[in-house]
Amino acid sequence: MRYICGHKTPDSDSIVGAIALSYLFNQIGIKSQAVRTGEVNTESRFILDRFKLDEPVFKDSFAQCDTYLVDFNNYEEGADDLKLANIVGIADHHKMGGIQTSSPIDIWIRAVGCSNTIIKEMFDYYKVVIPANLAGAMCCAILSDTVIFRSPTSTKADTKACKKLAKLADINKLKKLGLKMFKKKSDIKGATAHELIVRDFKLFDMYGAKVGIGHLEVIDIKIFKKIKENLKTALQKHKTAENFDTCLLILTDITAMGSVVLVATDSKDIIEKSWDIKVVDGEFWLDGCLSRKKQIVPFLEPNFKK
Ligand code: MG
Ligand code: MG
Ligand code: MG
Repeated sequence: MRYICGHKTPDSDSIVGAIALSYLFNQIGIKSQAVRTGEVNTESRFILDRFKLDEPVFKDSFAQCDTYLVDFNNYEEGADDLKLANIVGIADHHKMGGIQTSSPIDIWIRAVGCSNTIIKEMFDYYKVVIPANLAGAMCCAILSDTVIFRSPTSTKADTKACKKLAKLADINKLKKLGLKMFKKKSDIKGATAHELIVRDFKLFDMYGAKVGIGHLEVIDIKIFKKIKENLKTALQKHKTAENFDTCLLILTDITAMGSVVLVATDSKDIIEKSWDIKVVDGEFWLDGCLSRKKQIVPFLEPNFKK
């Protein structure tokens, strides 16, 4: 059995990508199962319900298992024993993360806005027809990762794949569907400050400095007004408890196209140098910033080099 797995704290690209790839591999005669190493978030739940797809099975141990990675390619974002897995392939759109294997593997990595764009191309390559409901879910994953094509990570390949998928799924109003989905993503009701910080949180080793970056994308950033101070306190607590050098929480307003970044750090000078800004009251504003991958990590990481 081949297990298809996205990253920890899975997003819609990870969840839908695992489902889509397992469907594809089963069609071409490779027995596969979609799995997840974390809970399904509110946005992915909306997608699964809307397109009547079963959620991947929870699995957090991969020792000796044939494993295909989707939407990540490093050990840090996978299950604790991922190093013991037999990694057979990767479909991803992130920077190279240092996976080592003992045999040749399939690698489908491109600098596009979403893994599901690549997976659409894999279906074309293997000449497998995508069922309407799966196409709809893949369409949503692309809308999510590219922030409805607004993110600087979004490419022509993403728009093209998404439109083709929309046609297969009989979706006429892509933007409307995208906004409906982001409304689900913007739902912060009932969540504690800590839950919001770790909802979409990634770990980085930046030249020996342990850095954690959370990202929340919402339609209107005003919803954070009342809880911003709580978020700052919780971020500071999280930093101390987990022994981070730096913890950031990016609050992205997808309508105003910019982000407030909350900061808990031992390296304030490095943060300020990275974007030529001043951190005031533990926060700063980045105009035009929508992407952690393209507008946060590449600016911050080089400055940790000693
Ligand atoms: Mg992802
Ligand atoms: Mg992705
Ligand atoms: Mg994302």
